[in-house]
Amino acid sequence: MMLWIQNPSEVITCHANQPKSGSAMQDIGRLTGVEILIRNGLIEAIAPRIDLEAKYDLAHAKVLDAEGRAVLPGFIDSHTHLVWGGERAEEFSWRLSGMDYMEIMNRGGGIAATVEKTRAASEDELIEAAGKRLDSMLRMGVTTVEAKSGYGLNLETEIKQLQAAEELNQIHPVDLVHTYMGAHDIPKGMEKEAYIASILQDLTGIREKTKAEFFDVFCEKNVFEIEDTQKLLEAANRHGFKLKLHADEIVPLGGAELAVSMGATSADHLLKVTDDGVRALAEGGTIATLLPGTAFSLQTDYAPARRLIEAGCSVALASDLNPGSCHSESIPLIIALSCLQMGMTIEEVITALTINAAAAVNRLDTIGSLAAGKQADLILLDAPSYFQLIYHLGVNSVKTVVKKGRVVYQRDY
Ligand SMILES: [Zn+2]
Repeated sequence: MMLWIQNPSEVITCHANQPKSGSAMQDIGRLTGVEILIRNGLIEAIAPRIDLEAKYDLAHAKVLDAEGRAVLPGFIDSHTHLVWGGERAEEFSWRLSGMDYMEIMNRGGGIAATVEKTRAASEDELIEAAGKRLDSMLRMGVTTVEAKSGYGLNLETEIKQLQAAEELNQIHPVDLVHTYMGAHDIPKGMEKEAYIASILQDLTGIREKTKAEFFDVFCEKNVFEIEDTQKLLEAANRHGFKLKLHADEIVPLGGAELAVSMGATSADHLLKVTDDGVRALAEGGTIATLLPGTAFSLQTDYAPARRLIEAGCSVALASDLNPGSCHSESIPLIIALSCLQMGMTIEEVITALTINAAAAVNRLDTIGSLAAGKQADLILLDAPSYFQLIYHLGVNSVKTVVKKGRVVYQRDY
C-alpha cells in the first residue's frame, strides 16, 4: 500500500535525531522540489520526483496531489488532561466576575467538581466526550496526544479514565500516550500523607490494569511539595514509569531542578522557573514544555520562553486542555500566543509542536519529523508556506491530515 504525495510547495521535515535546543530550533529542515512516498504507513522516501520514479514502481501508488501546499509533520499535543466528566462552563463567568479560586471552590466549582463528575461518569460517557475533543484536535492537525488521568483521585476512577483513553486509542485515528496522574490533587476529606501512601500502593494496580507509560505530579506549594514529589517520582521510577512533572507554575519550588535530577522526560508549565532551573534544564535531557493557553486563560504572566531557548533548553509547546484552567485544544491559539506573547519565532513554534513534542512523549524514533522510516503522520496547509500558521492569526490553516499513511481528515473549503 503506497501513497505518493505530489506537488508540495515545500516539505518541512523538522528532522533531527535529537530534540532541538537553543539556536538550532530555527532550523526546521525546509525542502523544495521534493515529493513524499509512503509505504505501509511509514515514510519510504522524500526525494525529487525523478528519483522516486527511477527507484520505485509507482504504477499502483495512490496519489495525493498537494496542489502547491506546504507539508509539515503532524502536531503532537504532549500535555493534556483529555478525559474528564461533566463541564464547568459557568465557572468561567464566575472567574470573569472577579471571584478567586477559593470562592469558586466554595460555590462547588474547581477541580473537585470535575472529580465528582468523573467518578459518576460511565466509561462510555468518558469515551464519547473525549472522542469529540480528539476529533477537534485532529482537524487542527494533531496526530498524537498525551492524555493524563487525575480526575479520579482513587484507584477505581483513575483506572476508568486510563482505560477510556486506551479504548479511544483503538478506535480513533489520533494516537494516545497514557499518563497516570493520581498525584493531581489531594482528594477532599483525605490527609496528604494518607493520599500519598495510597498512590504508592496503587502503582502496582495501575501498572497491571492500564497501559500508563508516564507518571506525573502536580508539584506545587500546599499540594505536593518538593519532598512529596521526589518520593512519588522515585516510587514511580521503581515501578517502571517514565516521569513528567507539573513544575514551577505558581511558586518556584525547584520543580525544574528536581525533574532534571530525576531524569524526567519533561518538566511542564515553568512560569516561575528560576535561573538555576533554566540552567538545569539546559544541561540535562529534560524537555521544557510550555503551556501558553493556560497562562492566557488564567491571565497570568507567560513562561520565559526566550530565556529558556537562549539558555539552550529544548522547548515543547502543548495545549494543557482541561476543564478548568485551560479549556482549549486550539493549536492556532497556542501558535498565536507563543509568537506574539512569548516572543518565539514561527520556526521555534513548529519545532516545539513536532520534534521536541515527540521527545516530550518519548516518541522520537517514530514521530515528530518527516524522514525515511518514520511514521507517515503529516499535514497539508491551505497555503504554500508554513508562515500561514502565524499569518492567518487564530484560524486553522490545516487542510488535510494524513495519519500512518492514510488521509483521515480533509477540509473541503
Ligand atoms: Zn496539566
